[in-house]
Amino acid sequence: MFICCEEHIELAIDMYVDEIERAPEIIHIPVDKQEKKCQFCQKQGVYVVGN
Ligand SMILES: [Zn+2]
Repeated sequence: MFICCEEHIELAIDMYVDEIERAPEIIHIPVDKQEKKCQFCQKQGVYVVGN
């Protein structure tokens, strides 16, 4: 499962598909719950990519 920003959503999906070999569920984190950083940069995480 990945947490990522707007910029790295495609990268996170690619990595998920490479590893798990199926399409991930993508959840948009509500603004007031965005407390984790993107796993690929230092921006605020906006999406959870996983199942
Ligand atoms: Zn990022």
